[in-house]
Amino acid sequence: MTLLVVGSANADLVVRVPRHPGPGETVLGASDLAVHPGGKGANQAVAAGRLGARAGFCGKVGDDPNGERVTRTLAEAGVDTAALSVAAGVPTGVALVTVAPGGENTIVVAPGANARLTAEEAAAAVTPHVRVVSAQCEVPLGAVCAAARRAPRFVLNASPAEALAAAPEAAEVLGYADPLVVNEHEMRVLLDAPGGGGAGNPADLLRLGVRSAVVTLGAAGAVVVCPDGGTATVAAPQVEAVDTTGAGDAFTGALAWRLAEGDGLADAVGWAVRAGAAAVQESGAHLSSTACGKLLGRSA
Ligand code: ATP
Repeated sequence: MTLLVVGSANADLVVRVPRHPGPGETVLGASDLAVHPGGKGANQAVAAGRLGARAGFCGKVGDDPNGERVTRTLAEAGVDTAALSVAAGVPTGVALVTVAPGGENTIVVAPGANARLTAEEAAAAVTPHVRVVSAQCEVPLGAVCAAARRAPRFVLNASPAEALAAAPEAAEVLGYADPLVVNEHEMRVLLDAPGGGGAGNPADLLRLGVRSAVVTLGAAGAVVVCPDGGTATVAAPQVEAVDTTGAGDAFTGALAWRLAEGDGLADAVGWAVRAGAAAVQESGAHLSSTACGKLLGRSA
């Protein structure tokens, strides 16, 4: 195992809506409820596993059917689940997702078992062959920090950014990030937080103490920020978006996979934008095996 993903494993409860409801409003769904395995951590690990990464997953699920389902999905994607533990008597995390025409989504997460992941468990999962640890912010930041301390290289997807900005471990965790991966909203949240220096350009993310950064820009691709402050834009393939849920996760999973295989940051981002574009062309948060097969075939 060369890549370890530390993060959340959820059940995603998804309804298509004609438009997102405002405060106090009820909107009738345009589809029946669909239940998919999800969670930023599991999404990223599944994407990496289906792309061929030698990946493991460290996280926590409840002893319920949702937990069994996401565990099975990880295993079927070839992801090592030895560090995925079960919390008795606690529900698996759940994400309530609405998807509007054009693919824009809103998400509310009930953390459930994800909140029980401990620093000791995360640190123990970083075994000697691990070259890259990739984490997000849907599990306790103490666990993320413990894994980051032991990581030869650490990829931090600061999502949700509000959770990172509020955590006492924020400065230390950001200091390990190489790269920090954020979308434009997350970039603003981190730069507007105390010590962030105010909203600005992607290169301003280096003020947070990160070693490098990647800002995802949806259909416009991504910006890479090098340690010296130099930036480069990587265009995304032009595709028709069906559902943007999980685009960022496919992106980060592919990025972490390529870094663990020894690619440089710019090359890894080249793979990541193709994985993100593949993800928006299909429903659900997990990058499908079919999409991964096409990506590997086209780019080999
Ligand atoms: P989400 O939270 O919906 O998973 P995100 O907001 O974290 O996504 P985005 O910047 O929307 O992240 O998308 C991540 C990457 O996916 C982009 O950098 C891009 O490479 C790809 N992507 C997203 N939307 C599109 C699109 N409409 N067309 C092509 N590529 C896209």
